[in-house]
Amino acid sequence: MKKKHATSDILHTKPCIIDPYGSISMPVYNSVAFEFDCAEAMEAAFSGKTTDHTYSRISNPTVEHFENRVKAITQAKHVTALSSGMAAISNIVFTLAKSGLNLVTSKHLFGNTYSFFQSTLAAFGVEVRFCDLLNLEEVKKKIDGKTCGLFLEIITNPQMEVADLKSLSEICKSKKIPLIADSTIVPFTSFKASDFGVDIETVSSTKYISGGATSIGGLIIDYGTFDWRTSERLRELERLHGRDAFNFKLRKEIHRNLGAYMSPQTAYMQSLGLETLEVRFLRAAETTKKLVEELSNHPKVEKVNYTDLKENRFYEISRSQFGEFPGAMFTIDLQSKEACFQFINKLQVIRRATNLFDNQSLAIHPASTIYVNFSQKERDEMNISDKTIRFSIGLEEFEVLIEDFERALG
Ligand SMILES: *Cc1c(COP(=O)(O)O)cnc(C)c1O
Repeated sequence: MKKKHATSDILHTKPCIIDPYGSISMPVYNSVAFEFDCAEAMEAAFSGKTTDHTYSRISNPTVEHFENRVKAITQAKHVTALSSGMAAISNIVFTLAKSGLNLVTSKHLFGNTYSFFQSTLAAFGVEVRFCDLLNLEEVKKKIDGKTCGLFLEIITNPQMEVADLKSLSEICKSKKIPLIADSTIVPFTSFKASDFGVDIETVSSTKYISGGATSIGGLIIDYGTFDWRTSERLRELERLHGRDAFNFKLRKEIHRNLGAYMSPQTAYMQSLGLETLEVRFLRAAETTKKLVEELSNHPKVEKVNYTDLKENRFYEISRSQFGEFPGAMFTIDLQSKEACFQFINKLQVIRRATNLFDNQSLAIHPASTIYVNFSQKERDEMNISDKTIRFSIGLEEFEVLIEDFERALG
């Protein structure tokens, strides 16, 4: 693949229109509707013969510019921006699945994704088959002629499990199903999903991309690599649209009907976030690396879970997929739930809050918060321990953060 310069590519993505005032950043088009010169032009736009904007639930110039920037850096064929990470995931599944089909995935998922799969989809007759994605034989067994895709998170949160994408992608290819990956944990400036056989990538742009927790958003990134002839839902459309069948169904039916497109204001903020994405990520990831190394030797810390530590069971595969910096999130285990609560209550810099990849560092006790509404049995199955604290590292200096850790551990 030709060498990419992520930040320059993002900064210099050409706007889709020439601004009458020569504005050098994309204006926010806070307009619901767009006017046409004549009825013929209106007909052409509505019938898809032109790509003019008509109505901002369907497309909008500011959002399109944001999508184009993501396209420039990922080199994907199609990008759609939604109003949240969950909207992106649900739009993908509603495009691929239908009653009677099944989706194969793991129980190690972001809490709402798990709940969406387990409860919401089940109510519409889509079977979700949970398996251990580290067990390739089990994965193969779960896939059958009614499987519409394999869904995974590239590093699970908070278990920090790393699936072998190349092997899973080979399985998907041989079974003729698309590989769908949620890559929220490592931004696409560092992780190249298409190099590992991912067909559809999804990102909660609420996290790194929003540029400091400014707004909620989500992305669907379609690499145009899957042959939809083998998709029960998209087979018909494939005849007309080939590898664009998924995008066609998504843009012409599903996302319009579900009505969760990104707002222009959010797209503006997240476009700015993209401009500094790589710089912020590298700073946060370097600090994360120093912290995990320091904390690994701390007598009060039972375990540090970060996949770029040499002793981590996923070290090799993590290096090969994500390079030196597998995200700015890690967990530690302390002696007990009480020890975790005491630690969290003593923090003075790190904020007690959910969310990931804010500019401010955040701490949360997953078992008593994100997973509190699951039963103990479900938590055990998801590997959620009440001895674990999750950290998302922001842009504060290392010295400031390590002092906060030392104080809270003391
Ligand atoms: C936050 C998150 C989501 C959901 O994103 P929202 O923008 O909050 O809807 C999905 N997947 C992962 C891995 C996340 O961290």
